[in-house]
Amino acid sequence: MPFKDILGNDRVKKVLRKALQKNKVPNSMLFCGPEGVGKKSMALMVAKAMNCKRKKDDACESCSSCRAINAKNFPDVIEILPEKNVVKIEQMRILRKLAYLKPMLGKKRIFIVPEAEKMQEPAANSLLKILEEPPLFSYILLVTHNPFLILPTIKSRCQILNFSPVSREDIGKNLVEKGFDEEKARILSLFVHGNLKQAMALEWEEVKAKREQAWQLFLSLIKKENIAGFLRNYAYSYRGLVKEEWKQIMQILSSFCRDLILLQEKSDVRLLMNPDYEEQLRKTESLLSSEALINFLTKIDYAIYGLEKNLNMNLLVSSFFSNFKEGKYV
Ligand SMILES: [Zn+2]
Repeated sequence: MPFKDILGNDRVKKVLRKALQKNKVPNSMLFCGPEGVGKKSMALMVAKAMNCKRKKDDACESCSSCRAINAKNFPDVIEILPEKNVVKIEQMRILRKLAYLKPMLGKKRIFIVPEAEKMQEPAANSLLKILEEPPLFSYILLVTHNPFLILPTIKSRCQILNFSPVSREDIGKNLVEKGFDEEKARILSLFVHGNLKQAMALEWEEVKAKREQAWQLFLSLIKKENIAGFLRNYAYSYRGLVKEEWKQIMQILSSFCRDLILLQEKSDVRLLMNPDYEEQLRKTESLLSSEALINFLTKIDYAIYGLEKNLNMNLLVSSFFSNFKEGKYV
């Protein structure tokens, strides 16, 4: 995949290509940004461009180096993955040893740590010296979706590149190219919130089912129907969900809320995030005042914010539902 095929993050691409053209790629870099936006693909892209036999600021994808890197079979591009969910100091010791040896086949040796937030503190500390004074031919690319978990001493030694979510338009276009019809592509592109990787892996039927489940939840909440029963059943069965699933449910609830606000304000229906729910949304329009709706949305957005910031999930979820128990917001 040459640079042009990586969707989104044009600013990051530009910075990297310029650095490649000038032979000034920083030896220590930290790629930060949300999940699924192509951070690791970009790191691999840099590794290929630095070792490509034909191109200087891109990957030709056909020379022996590009092909070997794609096949994960190139001794000078080394990925360091967590073992049992942590990157250990022993792995960093190996990295340090190899970093001082000249590349075997390639021009440069590149280490990619795709989940850098999983470096244990001793592992991270053991990298400090090499990040500060790396050997000329070695490059360390740390990648993380959670820069809050990266030690400040690591951050200060790296050139930081911030990635953004991939735009809805780019994701939508890509899905259409994959064969989705326009409306489905639009719903999916809204559903994934800039996570390209997720968009590529989604099945329409699965998304449809998740949205329907969230819709039923939304209805129970705004109709105040059997909330106590709901809390007993739904909240209990949702207890086993992981953070990402909760975030997704909250994001769908948030999209229904936004759509209702849009309908109440008589805005352009083409802006609906759930165009296929327009009729059902209209039926519920009168159930909530605009003030109650905004209150509801604020609560949902706070829960999403908390889930993103890794606050205690059980507390967030139970405090979210307690709003309905007390009948305060709807
Ligand atoms: Zn090449």
